[in-house]
Amino acid sequence: MTTNYDVIIIGGGPGGYVAAIRCAQLGMKTAVIEKWIRPGGDPALGGTCLNAGCIPSKALLESSERFEELKSGHAAAHGISADNIRIDIAAMIARKEKIVSELTGGIAQLFKANKIDWHQGHGTLLADHQVALLLNNGDEQTLRSDNIILAPGSIPAALPSAPFDGDRIVDSSAALDWTTAPPRLGIIGAGVIGLELGSLWRRLGSKVVILEALENFLPAADTQIARLAKRELSKQGLDIRLGAKLESAETNGNAVTLTYSGSKGQQSLTVDRLIVAVGRKPNTADCISPDAGITLDDAGRIEVDEFCQTGQPGIWAIGDAVRGPMLAHKASEEGIAVAERIAGQKPDINYDAIPFIIYTQPEIAWVGATEQTLKSAGTDYRSGSFNFAANGRATAMQAATGQVKVLADAQTDRILGVHIIGPMASELIGQAVIAIESENTAEDLARSIFAHPTLSEALHEAALAVDGRMIHGVNRRR
Ligand code: FAD
Ligand code: NAD
Repeated sequence: MTTNYDVIIIGGGPGGYVAAIRCAQLGMKTAVIEKWIRPGGDPALGGTCLNAGCIPSKALLESSERFEELKSGHAAAHGISADNIRIDIAAMIARKEKIVSELTGGIAQLFKANKIDWHQGHGTLLADHQVALLLNNGDEQTLRSDNIILAPGSIPAALPSAPFDGDRIVDSSAALDWTTAPPRLGIIGAGVIGLELGSLWRRLGSKVVILEALENFLPAADTQIARLAKRELSKQGLDIRLGAKLESAETNGNAVTLTYSGSKGQQSLTVDRLIVAVGRKPNTADCISPDAGITLDDAGRIEVDEFCQTGQPGIWAIGDAVRGPMLAHKASEEGIAVAERIAGQKPDINYDAIPFIIYTQPEIAWVGATEQTLKSAGTDYRSGSFNFAANGRATAMQAATGQVKVLADAQTDRILGVHIIGPMASELIGQAVIAIESENTAEDLARSIFAHPTLSEALHEAALAVDGRMIHGVNRRR
């Protein structure tokens, strides 16, 4: 039997589920095929982000920050002291699971309210706009639609020198479920996952060493901000070794011995557990039949144009499985845009205004161009920076580390990039996203009134500094 829909979506992560809700809002009969099974055996929507990514990692980061605040004496500066501070990591993991289950259950409710059919199983795109469905219960079905959105997401990239064993050498998902902190934790890759999970387990008591192959720390971030981040994270105790190329990882009983080459020649390191976090790869190996006419690039990503259209009419692809940053909000925005294009609307996606955030402490966040990319493009720009040390709210919070930097076009004054390291950078960056999306100038921000005392005033001051008018700092002579 073939069932017809206006749109079929393979994958129910932040790309697929958001696309489905928007399609339903636009009056389309919509189906989502999603196979995810949660550890207890229940099927779940939400993909990597809700089940094993954004949400569980942030839930655990939050718990670990509160623990460290009390344990390491940060709270003492406020006059708060407490003895015998302990953490029950199993309880912390249970809280995380509850949050995941509430949020994934919420999406299932939204599907019901929007009359979206969720087929719990594996979907494969066939030729002629057909989709083979293998349900989790073993039943098979064929679905058909003129419009199909591929949103299969991504999976952790493996390293041949340190293959995953599901126990001692693991990916990020497993490292979000440990109920005790490994005394010695190794991490391969000082990218977003390495820094977030490294911070998490360090706060819970692990001695963390991160081996990063590149000589540059966080090359995608603004160089000045990356330098500050490295300094702060190292001060906290994260041992980040740059230019470290892993040669082998051997498990002996409960320990893993790593051999790597670095600035001091060949070295070895023994850890109790190892997280491999060297990027993720598109999950496109088993969801597209070869005769479906879809082209993959060398990295396995589905080839699409700027509107997320594949080479086949009516077949679209979004999220981690296509070009661009692997971020939940990028996937969702593509989902919305594709739904609207199917409905005949003409939305665009501004890929220049996608925020990037690393949820360390201090948080690191940016949107738009970095100073190094502007320099190499030969763009004439002006820059203004403001330190949180001179921000009243940050000082009151005992979190006055970091800075905000605004980069603006020297001729037009249009904001080209904003870079923040500091308290609540993840929230502050939203203001910069609106400014860039609205094509604001630094002067627009400088003339806006920001409430006092707030962290946002640091953004105001950085915008004033672009024109040498910062109030609570010494302006650079121009
Ligand atoms: P996914 O979320 O991967 O969803 C794809 C879904 O498709 C999955 O549920 C999968 O089961 C399903 N699927 C695949 N193939 C099939 C098939 N053939 N049939 C049926 N179902 C199928 N991003 C952020 O923006 N902020 C963060 O803080 C953040 N933190 C992260 C932390 C970690 C530890 C990790 C690993 C990632 C994090 N990310 C974060 C990245 C974010 O999770 C992804 O960018 C996002 O989930 C991509 O959404 P997606 O819909 O493209 O794919
Ligand atoms: P990443 O690309 O951020 O970092 C991977 C790091 O591993 C890089 O620094 C790379 O140079 C290094 N590396 C690669 N091969 C190596 C090797 N052989 N030895 C040592 N180092 C090596 O990838 P990730 O941290 O795995 O995260 C995957 C994706 O998930 C990212 O695209 C990210 O956008 C997304 N994510 C986002 C967030 C967030 O938005 N806060 C959080 C977690 C994950």
